Amino acid sequence: LYRTRPVGTVAQADFLNAVVGLRTPAGASPEDGAMALLIALKGLERAMGRVERERWGPREIDLDLLLFGGHALRVERAAVARSGDPGRGGSQWLEVPHPSASERLFVLAPLADLASELEPSGWGESVAVARARAQDTEGPDAVEVVGEWEWMRARWADIAQPHED
Ligand code: ADP
Ligand code: MG
Repeated sequence: LYRTRPVGTVAQADFLNAVVGLRTPAGASPEDGAMALLIALKGLERAMGRVERERWGPREIDLDLLLFGGHALRVERAAVARSGDPGRGGSQWLEVPHPSASERLFVLAPLADLASELEPSGWGESVAVARARAQDTEGPDAVEVVGEWEWMRARWADIAQPHED
């Protein structure tokens, strides 16, 4: 878990950033599978209390899709099923790899912890190389580790309710 300084012009508190790897249904096509995952992420954002407001500003949670296997995708909403996302009327396009991921230290630092040698489609370099360049640009204090996965998992076990099912 990383603490990062906000990017952009709006004065706001620091952000907390993390990257996770998931196994997800492949879908009928990569476009279909990735869009289904994005719709699920948007549903989680709403369930966690995210409300619509200006872009770039403070938000409760932001779940972005960084990579989907080795695929490079640009999907318009019209190209996929419109069902499954009834709570959102706005745009539902999708671009993978996420177009800003290769420049943002707050993405690259946690992503490098999972997959430093990975070369995302279209980058022409590894995550580790992109991370080092972003760190040079943004400076040594731009990101700070504030939690380790094992620490978070142990803490989660304390607060999560046990389930029988
Ligand atoms: P932010 O740019 O801060 O993530 P939003 O979370 O509001 O802002 O995202 C705006 C829109 O960006 C989403 O509704 C989605 O349609 C689109 N988008 C395009 N590519 C992606 C991606 N790889 N991951 C997440 N959202 C994406
Ligand atoms: Mg987002």
